Amino acid sequence: MNVTHLECALCSKLHEASTLQNLCVECGKPLLVRYDLDIAAKTLTPESLASRESSLWRYREVLPVEDTANNIVSFGEGWTPLLKADELAKSLPIKLNLFIKDEGQNPTQSFKARGMTAAISMAKELGVKKVAVPSAGNAAGAMAAYAARAGMEAFIFMPSDTPRANVVECEQTGANVTLIDGLITDCGKIVAERKEAEGWFDVSTLKEPYRVEGKKTMGYELFEQFNSPPSEGGVAAFRGRGGSFPLPDVIIYPTGGGTGLIGMWKAFDEMEQMGWIDSKRPRMVTVQSETCAPIVRAFENGERFADEFENVSTVASGLRVPKAIGDFLILDAIRASGGTAVSVTDDELVKAVGEVGSATGIFAAPEGAACLPALRKLIEQDLLTEGETVVLFNTGSGVKYLEVFQ
Ligand SMILES: *Cc1c(COP(=O)(O)O)cnc(C)c1O
Ligand SMILES: [Zn+2]
Repeated sequence: MNVTHLECALCSKLHEASTLQNLCVECGKPLLVRYDLDIAAKTLTPESLASRESSLWRYREVLPVEDTANNIVSFGEGWTPLLKADELAKSLPIKLNLFIKDEGQNPTQSFKARGMTAAISMAKELGVKKVAVPSAGNAAGAMAAYAARAGMEAFIFMPSDTPRANVVECEQTGANVTLIDGLITDCGKIVAERKEAEGWFDVSTLKEPYRVEGKKTMGYELFEQFNSPPSEGGVAAFRGRGGSFPLPDVIIYPTGGGTGLIGMWKAFDEMEQMGWIDSKRPRMVTVQSETCAPIVRAFENGERFADEFENVSTVASGLRVPKAIGDFLILDAIRASGGTAVSVTDDELVKAVGEVGSATGIFAAPEGAACLPALRKLIEQDLLTEGETVVLFNTGSGVKYLEVFQ
């Protein structure tokens, strides 16, 4: 709404925001949306939010759509509950103030809905008729749904071992689905090769500027949920923190392309510029599967860019990303925050679905459940202090992964 321009996340080259853009024309890295935050902060105040809609569009001043009356394509995504997880916390060797942000309650059952509401709304605003995406699963399901709602044609390329629910939901919401014998990176190459001739707009993770804008709202929601007075009978709001730090001490985030982590990090910077918080940040923790852990490896090796991970395989399909174009943004954020990157085995993360489920009632996606063994590793490595506030991101619903439990 208050967009001034797009800026390359690596070389800072400025790009026009009023036309369709994919990557930086200079260096090929992701573009980020910049806003006039002085203007945004005049109407977007923590107090003003109390009476707004229960969707991520409550933060419209720091979201990109200009003609909000006509171009927002929405199912009411975002504003998901932040659930206290006391029973789960009791199973841990130290006492923590533990929460789960339950993103499985989004439309299409994953937080990919956040990114797609922003990307498809902007595609609509900029006149796009056909959209294409390579996806490990949930991004496809979300894109198919939002494209159908916007009246756009959707072209989806997924690995043939993508969870069946993702394939079926795309077909049933009218998308053109192609299954590829390969990985998401192979699917991405096909989209890149064909998009020009076909007239597709490529909405791959971080290859257009707006999915990250949708996902950054998780950072705004955490701020609100840890600070607003409890709503009547609601689970969404807590006066959780007390003291002066209005965010969790630690955020544990299952990372594939890293959009959500990069987005929340961006949101914290925006919130600081608008005077909501100071320069203190939560420690950002990336979780990956041992069999696909490019970010963990790069973190451990002290590298800023992550090499492609070979022979990847994990049932947590959202984490099956061997090479992330936003690698440096993930690694920069982890390091600047004093966080870390840990890997867990597929056995651990699948077992954790049942542990999280029986302790909290949340049927988590394997990716989200991976946060639990990761949390245990942080405790073993002495990286958490008694009494700290920790948020685990359950990024999707286990319902999408029935094959995993056979
Ligand atoms: C896509 C996905 C992830 C990874 O999200 P990024 O923000 O791209 O790192 C994690 N969990 C689930 C369920 C996903 O669909
Ligand atoms: Zn650049």
